[in-house]
Amino acid sequence: MHRLLMIEDEARIRDFVVPYLRKAGFEVDQADNGPEGLEMAQSGKYSLILLDLMLPGLDGREVCARLRKTSAVPVLMLTAKSEETDIVGGFEAGADDYLTKPFSPRELTVRVKAIIARCYPENKGAAVTAGPLALDTDAQQAALDGKPLSLTPKEFDLLLLMARYPNKTFSRDRILTDVWGYENAAAGDARTVDTHVKQLREKLGEHRGLLATVWGKGYKLDENYHSSVAAD
Ligand code: CA
Repeated sequence: MHRLLMIEDEARIRDFVVPYLRKAGFEVDQADNGPEGLEMAQSGKYSLILLDLMLPGLDGREVCARLRKTSAVPVLMLTAKSEETDIVGGFEAGADDYLTKPFSPRELTVRVKAIIARCYPENKGAAVTAGPLALDTDAQQAALDGKPLSLTPKEFDLLLLMARYPNKTFSRDRILTDVWGYENAAAGDARTVDTHVKQLREKLGEHRGLLATVWGKGYKLDENYHSSVAAD
């Protein structure tokens, strides 16, 4: 189940919208000011952040910009203003989409579902695949060349993160944040990532080249690698 965070200072709007989102099958947490909302959003627990623009403490744009330093979680900006500058400002701060007030709970729910479907395509039931690798996110099971691959939960999450974005380079910090969570990442150690990559490569065997080192930057899942077998 997807958990959402609504950062909105007006209780009237939260009370109006939150029950509707829950009815649509989402878990919803709430914050009524910028700093608290930012801290909660950084926890890594949420699939989507609903972020009001005008907030006490820190405004929505600032919350979004700070959140983006450590997280790629989708952000739907809720704005009372429809002026172009506000919308552009929200996108510049890293928002993925925006909705202008007043909106109906139904409108918001439709938008939330669309973003979730776009950002978490595995929830349509399709496995994430990359080359010989197939990851079943519901069952948390991996297969290589159609054969089951025994992975620890962290190894699975690490592989899934990279398989979702083949050929994209992930820094060790980013991997720590996404796989181990922000709070652990802050105290974390990049060598944890290296150790897990090493273990994963051993399990990938002849397909170890799938997990490529990008010198000085991090790791990526290289879809264009050639396995030792393919080279035979
Ligand atoms: Ca507000």
